[in-house]
Amino acid sequence: MSILKISRLGHPILLEKTNPVQNILDNEIKKIIYDMSETMIDAKGIGLAAPQVYINKQIMIFRTFNEDHDKNNEIKITALINPKISKITNETDEQWEGCLSIPGMLGLVKRYKKIKYEGLDMNGNIIKKEAEGLEARVVQHEYDHLMGILYTSRLVDEKAFGFSEEIEDFWKNQNKDKKDNNELNSN
Ligand code: ZN
Repeated sequence: MSILKISRLGHPILLEKTNPVQNILDNEIKKIIYDMSETMIDAKGIGLAAPQVYINKQIMIFRTFNEDHDKNNEIKITALINPKISKITNETDEQWEGCLSIPGMLGLVKRYKKIKYEGLDMNGNIIKKEAEGLEARVVQHEYDHLMGILYTSRLVDEKAFGFSEEIEDFWKNQNKDKKDNNELNSN
């Protein structure tokens, strides 16, 4: 496995819609997924999409959120190939998001609270799940990457974006009563 270079805001690959994977069972795809996993862990992210490592393919990974995730410090990762997502309700919430392709910055983004997602794993098995909370948010963020969309185009307010230190000092303190204070890791 190898750690890959992460593309950053300004590189056009982040604004391209990705192509579906045709050769799902190919070893090349497995290698991409392993390398993306190592890259995400190294960068302390919670999700990563292929365009973030300069690959125009519908592949995304994210840390698996379950009760026993911290047993033995084991990190479980879900890889989704050719994913589809849909909302379960119209309910939304607003949270601060970061992105490994926009390091040091945070933005306040509205997302659906509950979604369904479906895709294939690297063995060609169908993964079909419902998600809410952080998992729903990360999946929507990564899916957006596959569509060439960055969270900066989904800000609830154009002022709700900036360097994380400034956001901590200004936004979170000023708006403590209005907004949830939770900070997300980069994805
Ligand atoms: Zn991102």
